[in-house]
Amino acid sequence: MKMTDLKQFIRQDLIKFEEYKAVPSAYDIALDNNLAINEIDKLDANENVFGPSSKLNRELARFKGYQYYPDPEYKRLRRAIGNYVNVPEDYILVGSGGDELIDLLLRLIIEPGDEVINSPPTFGSYSTSTILNRGILVDVPRKKGFGINTKKVLRSINSKTKLIILCNPNNPSGNITDKKDIEQILKAGRLVLVDEAYFEFSKQTTLPLIKKYPNLIILRTFSKWAGIAGLRLGYLIASPIFIRQLTKIKSPYNINVAAEIGGMIALDDINYQQSIIEEIIKERKRLLRNLSRNINLLVYPSFANFIFLQVKDFAFPKLKLLFQKNIIAVRSYDSTLTGKAFRITIGSPQQNKKILEILDNI
Ligand code: PMP
Repeated sequence: MKMTDLKQFIRQDLIKFEEYKAVPSAYDIALDNNLAINEIDKLDANENVFGPSSKLNRELARFKGYQYYPDPEYKRLRRAIGNYVNVPEDYILVGSGGDELIDLLLRLIIEPGDEVINSPPTFGSYSTSTILNRGILVDVPRKKGFGINTKKVLRSINSKTKLIILCNPNNPSGNITDKKDIEQILKAGRLVLVDEAYFEFSKQTTLPLIKKYPNLIILRTFSKWAGIAGLRLGYLIASPIFIRQLTKIKSPYNINVAAEIGGMIALDDINYQQSIIEEIIKERKRLLRNLSRNINLLVYPSFANFIFLQVKDFAFPKLKLLFQKNIIAVRSYDSTLTGKAFRITIGSPQQNKKILEILDNI
């Protein structure tokens, strides 16, 4: 058999599948530029540059049980998360980042011909996971200003609609969706996934509706607020019936003990984490205030740990080059849905100063 013959064994729909293109890792950026990891300016993936509490390294070094598998039910961690969000632990499922949980949810619910309503521009995993799980993606683009088109979402619901996904605050635009709109969509009686990955920076949540609407599923993550994106830890909040079914199909030890410890420490050291969150929110305000004066930029209000700005055509290549020259990693966009734009993670005050200086060049 020739190597190319191997393709016959692969799902034919996946041969053409385009993978999610992740940004270069912090380690590669550091290595390529001869920098230490704490010297790089990585503002392209909405990580938390302040990192986790110093207690985490101590606890990871002290832990003596790495030779054993974790508790497949993650009871202690789920209880701690339940306390944090104020719901019973049987409403919680933990996963290896929100990414795993999006995939797991779709794996549980999608049957042939089922449709998933998505509102781009938004987080790329929704479309990738829908297609991977053989769902039919129904895109209802956001309106000007990036608000969801609630009327059109509601009109797109039919007998095949299984799930509606709402990213709130939205990545990459940073705006939030009104609770009234979410409730209207919940009333349509389909599953609704509200992705609150950036909740800690918006402080707005659909969670109080979870008992009234059992079709509501909320996604959260420790990657953004707790500074442990590298450990991979996210969770779903959903009705216990749902959590039980998801638990059945997950891989038994889907998060590792280091992530488990990372989650416990973050929740334990909540005052430290809260002070970091407040600092990021303060920096966000400062950036937005300063940038709003620049007539070549259209800066959007943000409820997350990043800012989103559209730039004039002439400025786009210039800014890309400037970011590159200064070894500052940011996310750039150039499509009909986004316009020519940048999404920039809120960094340390020194990093944000560099961002302001570069944008002021235009
Ligand atoms: N949802 C949104 C909206 C995100 O932006 C991200 C991270 N980019 C995630 C979910 C997934 O995060 P993680 O897998 O690190 O938990």
